[in-house]
Amino acid sequence: MMRMTILAGWLLCMVLSAPATATELASPSTLEKSLAELNEALKSDFDLSLLPELRALRRDAHDIDALEIVAQTLLLEGQVRQQYGDYQQSLVLHNDALQLAIQRKDLALMAQSRLAIARLEMDLERYNYAQRSLDDVQQLIEQLDNHFQKTPYVAQQLLLQHRLWQGYLYVLLGSYHQAVATLRTDGLVVTGAPELRDTLLLARAWALLKLGRYQQAQPILNQVAQSNMLVRNQRMRLRFKLLQSMVWLQSGDFQQTLDTAMPALMETFATRFLDEQAELQFVMSNAYVQMGDYQQAHLYLKRYALTKDALNFQKRNNKLLQLESQYALATQKQQLSLLEKDNALQAQEIFRHQQILENTRLAQQRGALLLILAVALLGFLYWRWQNKRYLSLLEEEVKQRTAELDERNRQLQALSYSDSLTGLHNRHYFFSEADKLLAHTHGTSQSTIFCLIDIDHFKQINDSYGHAVGDQVLQQFAQLVRLQLREQDVLIRWGGEEFLLVMPDTDVSQAQPLIERIRHVVMQALFGSDAQRLMCTCSLGFAPYPLRLSNGQPLDWEQVLELADNCLYQAKHGGRDAWVGLNPPAQPLAMSFEQLQQNMEAFTVSSTQLAG
Ligand code: GH3
Ligand code: MG
Ligand code: MG
Repeated sequence: MMRMTILAGWLLCMVLSAPATATELASPSTLEKSLAELNEALKSDFDLSLLPELRALRRDAHDIDALEIVAQTLLLEGQVRQQYGDYQQSLVLHNDALQLAIQRKDLALMAQSRLAIARLEMDLERYNYAQRSLDDVQQLIEQLDNHFQKTPYVAQQLLLQHRLWQGYLYVLLGSYHQAVATLRTDGLVVTGAPELRDTLLLARAWALLKLGRYQQAQPILNQVAQSNMLVRNQRMRLRFKLLQSMVWLQSGDFQQTLDTAMPALMETFATRFLDEQAELQFVMSNAYVQMGDYQQAHLYLKRYALTKDALNFQKRNNKLLQLESQYALATQKQQLSLLEKDNALQAQEIFRHQQILENTRLAQQRGALLLILAVALLGFLYWRWQNKRYLSLLEEEVKQRTAELDERNRQLQALSYSDSLTGLHNRHYFFSEADKLLAHTHGTSQSTIFCLIDIDHFKQINDSYGHAVGDQVLQQFAQLVRLQLREQDVLIRWGGEEFLLVMPDTDVSQAQPLIERIRHVVMQALFGSDAQRLMCTCSLGFAPYPLRLSNGQPLDWEQVLELADNCLYQAKHGGRDAWVGLNPPAQPLAMSFEQLQQNMEAFTVSSTQLAG
């Protein structure tokens, strides 16, 4: 059944809270309102079931960055936990709130956090720490006074709280006079904080009663009696009743003391308010003593002792917890510093390793680069060497081939320039070498003689003795003529049984005896074989080169050769076995080439003229 209710409540919460969280963020004013409500609800009896709601509120505040509300929820949860003895967590929460306040430089919030811590320190019986925190609060309030003149209300509230908890600390320390002096509301506006004022008044009454000043305490209690706080806050209600019973006790109304204390004591059972319980038992025991009921007095004294024991046990636990938390903190700090050291060492080690790795990597890269370079260089050198070798081989081969080719060309040329039958140069030779042979005549006075030699009636030799004999005669003829020549003279087989004799550096007069000797030698010689001796003659016609006509232009060698041929024709026509040569005057002839050809006789010399 209870589960069902919780589930239903939870579902309701989900439904109510879902739209806010899912669709839109809460506004700060809504959150402040919720905080105020929760504050009210929690302060009355510190209901633990409200904690989830408080945390949800903190989350919402966090989402919209409302840090002051976050801090307030932290303080509130810290107070709740403190009420239930979870001092460690409470301390953490209060400190978180303080850090937030410092972060935001919020003096009021800082003072509030310090106050909460002071209260916690009081519970932990660390009064020195509590006093230090309260001193801090005092300072913060002074600063706040200077800074926030416009909002003295906040400062007033804090001052009221400071007085309350400072007075409370004095009571705990047994300084009741100081407590009474501190726990006062004069000079403060307290209307806005009735509960705070009432709590302060109760503390004041308590201090007065500790001093035995019940007459002063009574009006204070009367003042508080109607307080709303007593209806809502069980502890305050119990405290009020305790104080009231103490007033009755001190005033001597013992029955009234018991009547007040008894129901209050009953109310303390099954609560965590052992302090009040013990005090009530003590008050009752005292009342019984005064009434002479020593049995009851003894009974309540014993109960008082037991409750005190339990209280001490609880306090011992608190101390233990406190020690534990301190120890945990110390170990944590130690572990943290060890971890930090370890981290630093590790970072150093990692850095060192990274450096080593980096260095190795660099060295490897350098090595690889050098290797690649070396290989590339070697490859290049090898390639160049191979290339050179190959090139030189090629060059060698080309040279060899060229030489071979040259040789072959030379041979070919020799073959093409020579006559296979007589071994003389042939007509091609002259055509290709004519320019060379005639070059030296340019610029000199010396001429070159072109002399054509033709064997007479050669056809008859062929016809009479056969072609082979004809060939033999041709060979023998060539041989014979050659023997008559000077070193510079060149004999060429011009074609068939016709020869060309080129005589460099020779003029017509020098040529005549030479030509005559050729004619003569041939005429006398015997040709053929031993078995077949035969005789033959030859006719010769010659002309000098260069030869100038009236126009000043020298005739070319072909024209001169044609003139020599004309002379040869004249020799043949004159009866053969003779020579005719063109012997032009020193002055250029005043006629054309054709005119010269037609009037050749006027300028010729011949063997018949000489013989005549
Ligand atoms: P001419 O006195 O007018 O010069 O009379 P020819 O018989 O010598 O002249 P022609 O031009 O009538 O005849 C030349 C002959 O020479 C004709 C040809 O058969 C012969 N002949 C040409 N070349 C060769 C050769 O290489 N060997 C032989 N055996 N005969 C040749
Ligand atoms: Mg001929
Ligand atoms: Mg002939």
